[in-house]
Amino acid sequence: MPTPARVAVLPSDPGPMRIEEIELPDPTGHQVVVKEFASGICHSQLHQIHNARRSEVVLGHEATGEVLAVGDEVTNVKPGQKVLLTFQPRDLRTTDRMPWMASVESGGGKAASSNIFTWSDHTICDDQYVIAVPDDTPMDVTAPVGCAVLTGAGAVLRAANVQPGQSVAIWGVGGVGLNAVAAARMAGANPIIAVDVDDVKLDLASRFGATHVVNGAETDPVAFIREMTPGPEGAHGFRGLPIAGVDYAFDVVARNQTFQQAFQSTRNSRNAVHGGGTTVVVGVPQESFELPAVEMLMNERQILGTLGGTAVPDEDIPTFVEWFKNGDLDLESLVTSRVGLDEINEACQMLDDGKVLGRSIIEF
Ligand SMILES: [Zn+2]
Repeated sequence: MPTPARVAVLPSDPGPMRIEEIELPDPTGHQVVVKEFASGICHSQLHQIHNARRSEVVLGHEATGEVLAVGDEVTNVKPGQKVLLTFQPRDLRTTDRMPWMASVESGGGKAASSNIFTWSDHTICDDQYVIAVPDDTPMDVTAPVGCAVLTGAGAVLRAANVQPGQSVAIWGVGGVGLNAVAAARMAGANPIIAVDVDDVKLDLASRFGATHVVNGAETDPVAFIREMTPGPEGAHGFRGLPIAGVDYAFDVVARNQTFQQAFQSTRNSRNAVHGGGTTVVVGVPQESFELPAVEMLMNERQILGTLGGTAVPDEDIPTFVEWFKNGDLDLESLVTSRVGLDEINEACQMLDDGKVLGRSIIEF
């Protein structure tokens, strides 16, 4: 029996999303139909809204829900199961099957997503994007786990694999960056330095576990971080620069300016003695970065890209839900605004205007 759904559809021509009433087909094969409770609004979706496109699009890639129906090849969830939805396949190491990319019949013919769509009260997607969680999991503030938490915390735990006592700095402490801060604390990193241009976000970062905060609009973050993280007394590297800097600099903003700052804040090394620091590109870059190639080489610094924190949702999402339940991940503070589906255009505008401190969620 088809499932009625209200879904936000982004038209192919520039313009606001419209809410359309559609019917989702019965799931077949690896498809799952989910009744949603809440979905997050992610910054990377603004890029999709602003970028040109040739056809209609359905958006949203983190949500909570309950399974209504499954196709005959689905084995990881069954109807009635509470789930989190994510854009990152749950474990591609265990299958060579590429997940189905969700799409719906819309007024414009067809509206598609490159993975899932969750700005809708019901959705249909591949079981690779559906993670079972315990029945008592709150279904509102856990909505951002599928992208914001996965990406921020995954970058620290999976991509960088930060070890106790290592030093980290994080550029951009909004919805994703705050989770990188929380994961750095869980990993035992020290110091954990948050960099942003918004003092309210920096206050939030302190609550999530940042040991130091820097307002990049007022203080040079590179000088501050190098002073905080000195190397051995008298040790110098290329061009006589004292050895200093963090083990890992996470660039969640991913602009050329933040990348340059992050890169210059990582430790310089010489002849493998000190271990050059690593810049981890976490945010979705909207411009190319200049690569200080000589300084990369001479200072033995590394650059690492990570999509979705290189997380393995099957293993990591239950961990992050546990952190939340144990009080180690303050998702109540992460969710700073709640809207209805009919307010989706206004909610995206607020995010674009920098008025969302943590994460906005849509509640259905
Ligand atoms: Zn996202």
